[in-house]
Amino acid sequence: MNDETHQWRLETMAVRGGHERTQEQEHSEAIFTTSSFVYESAAEAARKFSGDEPGNVYSRFSNPTVQTFERRLAALEGGDRAVATSSGMAAILSLSLGLLEAGDEIVASRSLFGTSIRQFNNFLAKFGVTTHYVPLSDLEAWKAAVSPRTKLFFAETPSNPLQELVDIPALADIAHEHGIKLVIDNCFCTPALQKPLALGADLVVHSATKFLDGQGRAVGGAVVGDHATLEEIYRVNRTCGPCMSPFNAWIFLKGLETLSLRMKAHCENAMGLATWLEAHPAVERVHYSGLSHHPQHDLAAQQQSGFGAVLGVEVKNGQEGAWAVIDATKMLSITGNLGDTKTTITHPATTTHGRLSQDELASAGITPGLIRISVGIEALEDIQADLARGLDRL
Ligand SMILES: *Cc1c(COP(=O)(O)O)cnc(C)c1O
Repeated sequence: MNDETHQWRLETMAVRGGHERTQEQEHSEAIFTTSSFVYESAAEAARKFSGDEPGNVYSRFSNPTVQTFERRLAALEGGDRAVATSSGMAAILSLSLGLLEAGDEIVASRSLFGTSIRQFNNFLAKFGVTTHYVPLSDLEAWKAAVSPRTKLFFAETPSNPLQELVDIPALADIAHEHGIKLVIDNCFCTPALQKPLALGADLVVHSATKFLDGQGRAVGGAVVGDHATLEEIYRVNRTCGPCMSPFNAWIFLKGLETLSLRMKAHCENAMGLATWLEAHPAVERVHYSGLSHHPQHDLAAQQQSGFGAVLGVEVKNGQEGAWAVIDATKMLSITGNLGDTKTTITHPATTTHGRLSQDELASAGITPGLIRISVGIEALEDIQADLARGLDRL
C-alpha cells in the first residue's frame, strides 16, 4: 500500500484496504480458488521454491485472496502484518506453537473463552507449557503470577458474558517490564471499537467467525502484530497447515466492508436494550459496560470507542426464570454463537460455561439466572417484544 492508503480512516480501510487489483481490473476482490501456482520455467519454479524470488507457490503458503484479507485486517488493527488461520482456535494454536517451547508459561485471564482454556490445559500442557489463571482486572495478580519462564500474557477484554475489562496499557507495562508479550483476543470489540496494539499490546488474535464476518457464514481466525513475530507464526501456519481457505477469506473481506456500520448498530441496540432491561421489574441486574453503574464504565469509555454488542442479564427465579425467558422467545436465536446480525440468546451456566464446577461458576459470576444476549441489528422494538413475552410472566 502506498502512503496515501496508510492514512485512510478505519471506515475506508475496511472497505478498500489491502486490495491489489489484478490485470482483469475487477472491482470486487477476486477469489483465487487454486491450490497451486504455475511457472514459466523450471528455473523460475526453483527460485520461487527457494524463496529467492517472491511469489505464490502453494495456497498453504500464500494465496492472493487470503493475503488481501490479511493486509486489510492488519491495517485495521494497526499491525505490520496478519496471518489468517482456519479458525480462532487455530490462531491461538499457531501463535503458541510459534512463540513457546516446553517449560514456558502463560499467564491468562480466568474469564477466557472456554475452548481457549481447554486448548491451554489439555493440549499445550502435553507439550510442557503451563498456564496460570488470574482475575482479568486484577493487575497485582498478573504481576504475582509472573515467573522467569513466563513468555505470554493472554487476555480477552471485555470478558464474556459479564463485560469485565482490563486496563490494556497498564497490563502491557507489566508485561514489558518482564520481557513478556501481551496478547489480546479482540473478538468482542473488533478494531472498530478497540485497537489493542495502539494501547500497548504486542499481538491481537481474532475469531473472524464472530463480528469480522458478522453474518454467521464461515469459521476463521487471524493473528496480527509486528513483522518479526508474525514471521514465526506464519512459519507454523505454513508447515502445520491451519491456513484459511480463499473462499472464507473472501467472505471475511465482504464482512469487513460493513464492520464499522454494523458495530455502530450493534452498540446502539445493545445500549437501548440494556437500558430497557434495567427498568423491567423481572430483571435483577444488567451487566453492560455502557451503563454508568458498571464498575469499569470509565475504563470502557476511555479504552473502547463503543461498549459492544454483548450483555449479561440476571433475571428473577434463577435457572427456571432464565430458561422461561429464553423459551418464550420466537425471534431470537437460541445458540451459543455470537457476533451475528441476528440477536442470539444463551444460558451460560448450562451451555458455554456448563463444564465449570459450582465453585468455578460462582467465582466467575455466572449465576443460575444469568442470560447472555449478543444483540443483533434487528429493530430494537422487535428484540424487546420478543424478550418481554417471557419477562412479563416472571
Ligand atoms: C469464538 C471465540 C474464539 C474461537 O474462535 P473459533 O473461530 O470458534 O475457533 C476465541 N475467542 C473468543 C473470544 C471467541 O468468542
